[in-house]
Order: sequence, then C-alpha cells, then structure tokens
Amino acid sequence: MTTIKTTCLACGDVELAADDLVLELSPMEATGHYNFECPFCESTQHRPANERVVAILLAIGVTYFVSEELVSEDEITEFVESLDDWLQDITAA
Ligand SMILES: [Zn+2]
Repeated sequence: MTTIKTTCLACGDVELAADDLVLELSPMEATGHYNFECPFCESTQHRPANERVVAILLAIGVTYFVSEELVSEDEITEFVESLDDWLQDITAA
C-alpha cells in the first residue's frame, strides 16, 4: 500500500495511508487542502496542497471533494453594497 509522508505540527514526520487523508479541492483551481488526523496525537491537521501535491494525492486514490465556496461572504457583501449604490444612483436621477 502506498504511504504518504507528511508532517504533524506537533509530532513532526508521520506516515499515512491514502485512506487516512481527505483532499479538499478549490473550485476552478488545481490546488486545495488536505485534512488528516494525526495517528500520534489525534489532532486534525489541515494543510495546503499545491498542484504537485494534489496530483500525487489523486494518483494514489485519496478521497476528495470540491469545496463549494464559489463565492466568499465578503464578495456577497460587496455585491449587495454595490447594488445599494446602484439603486441610489437610479432613484436620485
Ligand atoms: Zn500529531
């Protein structure tokens, strides 16, 4: 079985099986994050995955899902505020 070497912030180097990781992909990008539970201290680790790491994790059969945060809350707030401005411009005319 393929093992993945990664690091726990508390314990240092740890080896995991493909089943121990979950990959979270960013929509529209080839990057994301991977989550795993450290086998030593049992804390959940959330680490960034660049394109190379994503490709490796997918190749060895790690479970993945695509993050649904297509639009951030900040972007929604900004959009709503710009609508308010637009409405004021219209009604002031
Ligand atoms: Zn640990």
